[in-house]
Amino acid sequence: MAFETQAGPDDTAPALPLPPMKWDAWGDPALAKPLSQDIRELLGAALGVTARESSAPSAAEVVLRASALTEEDLAALAAVVGTGHLSTADADRLPRAGGKSTPDLLRRRSREPQDAPDAVVLPGDEDEIAALLALCSQRRIAVVPFGGGTSVVGGVDPERGALRAVLSLDLCRLDGLLALDEVSGEAVLGAGLTGPQAEELLAARGWELGHYPQSFRYATVGGFAATRSSGQDSAGYGRFDDMVRGLRVVTPAGVLDLGRAPASAAGPDLRELFLGSEGVFGVITAVRLRIHPVAAARVHEAWSFPDFATGAAALRAVAQQGAGPTVIRLSDEAETAVNLAMTDKIGGSQVAAGCLAVTVFEGTREQVDSRHARTREVLLAAGGSSLGEEPARAWEHGRFNAPYLRDSLLDAGALCETLETATDWANLDRLKSAVTEALQSALTKAGSASLVMCHISHVYPTGASLYFTVVAAQSGEPLAQWGAAKQAAGDAILAAGGTITHHHAVGVDHRPWMEQEIGEVGVKILRAVKDALDPAGILNPGKLIP
Ligand SMILES: Cc1cc2nc3c(=O)[nH]c(=O)nc-3n(C[C@H](O)[C@H](O)[C@H](O)COP(=O)(O)OP(=O)(O)OC[C@H]3O[C@@H](n4cnc5c(N)ncnc54)[C@H](O)[C@@H]3O)c2cc1C
Repeated sequence: MAFETQAGPDDTAPALPLPPMKWDAWGDPALAKPLSQDIRELLGAALGVTARESSAPSAAEVVLRASALTEEDLAALAAVVGTGHLSTADADRLPRAGGKSTPDLLRRRSREPQDAPDAVVLPGDEDEIAALLALCSQRRIAVVPFGGGTSVVGGVDPERGALRAVLSLDLCRLDGLLALDEVSGEAVLGAGLTGPQAEELLAARGWELGHYPQSFRYATVGGFAATRSSGQDSAGYGRFDDMVRGLRVVTPAGVLDLGRAPASAAGPDLRELFLGSEGVFGVITAVRLRIHPVAAARVHEAWSFPDFATGAAALRAVAQQGAGPTVIRLSDEAETAVNLAMTDKIGGSQVAAGCLAVTVFEGTREQVDSRHARTREVLLAAGGSSLGEEPARAWEHGRFNAPYLRDSLLDAGALCETLETATDWANLDRLKSAVTEALQSALTKAGSASLVMCHISHVYPTGASLYFTVVAAQSGEPLAQWGAAKQAAGDAILAAGGTITHHHAVGVDHRPWMEQEIGEVGVKILRAVKDALDPAGILNPGKLIP
């Protein structure tokens, strides 16, 4: 039987609803942020960045590897989801061919044939997902769950492993507010809802989730759970995994409905197996989450500290004393100086020489006032000077836009990427120095001066995460150039006692460090769970588990 794709004869026309992001850049093209001439000159003078000849292909020019699926495979898949929810058109495969790390974006600029899933399916419910997993197990087709496609660790790469083809399982149709329990303060959300869609549905009923990673506009509820995402408001509302009360997961071995009570002593908590499981054990279809009423009051205040060590000690005091900010973060000297050069709104000369911290408070008027007063007291005692509310408001206003800058930097001939880790407070300085030095020396070896900036992005009573941003001139082959820097940084992180990832997850990119992170027995446990739930090994091969 001939399989008719919805795209008709023209492979460049999409047949399915497209992921909302550009295929070769971040987000909405209308929000692109071209670099000013001043910034270009600054990059040239400071880092030797010069424009490179670019011949990046347009979407229509990209050559994708041909689909390996047979007409029989396609007919069998169509029998499960319907022809309207299955496509082999290049225009549907290309936007699901990878995530949004800098290496992903560099690969998209290649004119060599690019890898892509052999087909895209959009299942509408759990029964269809279960049927697809059974079919793919039988036909030896790999399945890559696809949420928003914002992975920065290769999590949605179309890896086949030893199988003969790979399917992108786009969960965008699982997009409902499935239940709202206003007594307990819980909502059940479909895994395919994006951050804004979820917040809009909740806000219409007076509730809020409060999970705001920088990828908020595009990432999904299922993706947040599958990667243990951490949002910018996590000091107040917790990481995403802290919010999860229950999960529904479809695995090749059956369906799990986990999380019966707010707390339980019924053995190990199996939800933990699926939080951070990155699609290798099953497909998360719905998540029951702790929610809170939409905040009645909000207060912003920015702070300046003379140096990073003083600022870090101040944030530690806030975290350890439970002073209660919703957002608290601290940029180091380099990041503060660059932010200052990029905007005139972060406090002018007051922060030029030191480190900028941002605090935001949310809740009832009473909660906000008391948390704000308590946090101020701690920060003042620890050597901070208030910069007032404007710099904190400016940070919040632009907080989802920084990724657009990376696209412009890549276009201008700069290499720009981020990485993150976490450790105990006692080890923070050592880890920061080790990673900075590793990045700088690897890039120097590759012939580039570099700027390594860092901020404390999340705080806990016992430690904090460090988020690094690296900018250098592209030299030689930029993918290899970044590969060497990333290898050096990953090795330095593990050697200095940090975790290979605080919130970006493992995917393909961090897999080489997993055994060092969790030990040989830890790897055996993950493999045993994988064998039990996915004996044919179809779910996301090549990710997470070494
Ligand atoms: C510019 C930028 C900024 C970012 N900022 C942050 C940040 O502040 N905090 C943060 O935590 N992360 C951040 N990230 C990383 C990324 O956004 C998160 O990992 C996010 O949680 C991924 O969600 P997603 O829906 O896009 O998942 P995808 O990228 O689609 O998938 C990620 C992984 O989860 C699996 N998966 C997705 N959905 C499901 C499901 N329903 N069931 C099972 N497996 C599934 C995929 O197979 C893949 O392995 C950022 C990324 C970018 C590009």
